[in-house]
Amino acid sequence: EKIFSGFSKTRDNLAVIDELLTYWNLAETDRVLDELEEALLVSDFGPKITIKIVEILREDILAGKLKSGSEIKDALKKSVLDLLTSKGNKTELQLGFRKPAVIMIVGVNGGGKTTSLGKLAHRLKKEGTKILMAAGDTFRAAASDQLEVWAERTGCEIVVGEGEKAKASSVLSQAVKRGKKQGFDVVLCDTSGRLHTNYSLMEELIACKKAIGKIIFGAPNEILLVLDGTTGLNMLPQAREFNDVVGITGLILTKLDGSARGGCVVSVVDELGIPVKFVGVGEGLEDLQPFDAEAFVNAIFS
Ligand code: GDP
Repeated sequence: EKIFSGFSKTRDNLAVIDELLTYWNLAETDRVLDELEEALLVSDFGPKITIKIVEILREDILAGKLKSGSEIKDALKKSVLDLLTSKGNKTELQLGFRKPAVIMIVGVNGGGKTTSLGKLAHRLKKEGTKILMAAGDTFRAAASDQLEVWAERTGCEIVVGEGEKAKASSVLSQAVKRGKKQGFDVVLCDTSGRLHTNYSLMEELIACKKAIGKIIFGAPNEILLVLDGTTGLNMLPQAREFNDVVGITGLILTKLDGSARGGCVVSVVDELGIPVKFVGVGEGLEDLQPFDAEAFVNAIFS
């Protein structure tokens, strides 16, 4: 089982819970739960989830169902796991049987979109998948160059738009057509990420989705939203907007290696009902891990 070494900063934030529970006794329940609440908030579980978890623990303690610090800790881990698995099922990529499967990667600039696309290509390629990359961020001049570097690094082929005025939707549809004709298994589509408040980005993403749909006769198999894990709960409004406009099938949370706010994983899954499919825990090729709820819970509450 994967150990999420990437969550060490969040784990440090939550280590206080262990100390608290070691010395827990019934008379100190309120104080202990107050401090536990504080620790969860500091790690960006968010007020809604934190209160839900703490109140369930309080009820079970007062009802005599939890009789020791270690039972409380197990109950805490179980409620976090339940929150993650009740809404965030299907954490594995759903690529279907039709070839090529199409994965669109969306998200705002700087979140780790291109890096995640490269790491995902590397991971799929290792499994024997024939990948075609598509440089759909035609807005930022350097974006295609950056993706070409990843294509070279991972040994994947790539479709890049011609000229500065290439339309994102035509680059992607060209790539999917080629993918179909030449027997690629997966077409990995990069997209633009200029500020999400700019309405035309959302229009462009809709146009991209439609253009792909015309060729594969349906929606892309996956539309993965890349979110910067260091922004913690601040990622929520942005995630909601992308989901409302394009319909997100899964999340990639990046930079969790540098974030003490890993609790946001639970909040974002609970709020949006979208599964986390991968987490980014570093800048290297191998630093994209499939999300495993149980391993995550064990890593943050070790
Ligand atoms: P984009 O603008 O969304 O395509 O973002 P990039 O892929 O260019 O990434 C922005 C920066 O974040 C780069 O310096 C990446 O190396 C870095 N980055 C991306 N993912 C991770 C991650 O999981 N961990 C760390 N530490 N850095 C990351």
